[in-house]
Amino acid sequence: MTYEEAAAAASQGAVALLPAGATEAHGPHLPLSTDVIISETAALRAARRLSDEGVASVVLPPLAYAVTEFAADFGGTISLSLETATALAHDVIMGAHRAGFSGVVVCNAHLEPGNLAALKAAVKSANEAGGWAAFPDVTRKPHALRLGEEFKSGACHAGSYETSLVLAAEPFMVRDEVAQALAPNPNSLSVAIRDGKGSFLEAGGPRAYFGYPADATATEGESLYAELSAIFAESAKALLAA
Ligand SMILES: [Zn+2]
Repeated sequence: MTYEEAAAAASQGAVALLPAGATEAHGPHLPLSTDVIISETAALRAARRLSDEGVASVVLPPLAYAVTEFAADFGGTISLSLETATALAHDVIMGAHRAGFSGVVVCNAHLEPGNLAALKAAVKSANEAGGWAAFPDVTRKPHALRLGEEFKSGACHAGSYETSLVLAAEPFMVRDEVAQALAPNPNSLSVAIRDGKGSFLEAGGPRAYFGYPADATATEGESLYAELSAIFAESAKALLAA
């Protein structure tokens, strides 16, 4: 959008959707930008859904860096400190507030606990500072129940869930032959996190993937985007109504 288009959208009461991704290892078959692709695609589809219901929204450029300590052992991973990630999200939310948008919904695809904590803290501090923001955490109920069995098992980093989502959005970004040859890795990241593990290696993911990448399909990705975009659109409507 140009600045004039953005100003017009703000004056029409548009809510801003902020995709939140990361730059981190996603197995040998998905790009480092996987979470950026997923969050941006889900936000764009949420905007389309809102538009169909007569609700104005804009999609902000995504947060492409985050707390990614779990993937720190793998090439190309770039992690922010908790303080920087929190301040970055806070400042973007407040910037969108000053730009006149009716609120900000954080559309997050990077599920590491440190990143969830940063986004949660940023939304809280922005709301205390007079901003207006929401963070629907897809790792919590009821949202998590909508995202399939692998997601619920916690073995959901670069497995069939994320591979399907990238296949549906950017099929040429998936190394298909590599994905097809990957053995299942049912080790649950959420169980490992509960047990105090702090890296993919410690959690039993020597190639930075968990779950079942070979099972991924674009069709599955489409139905997951339908769920994710509904979660974000519902959050935007609740924010506007509150
Ligand atoms: Zn991811």
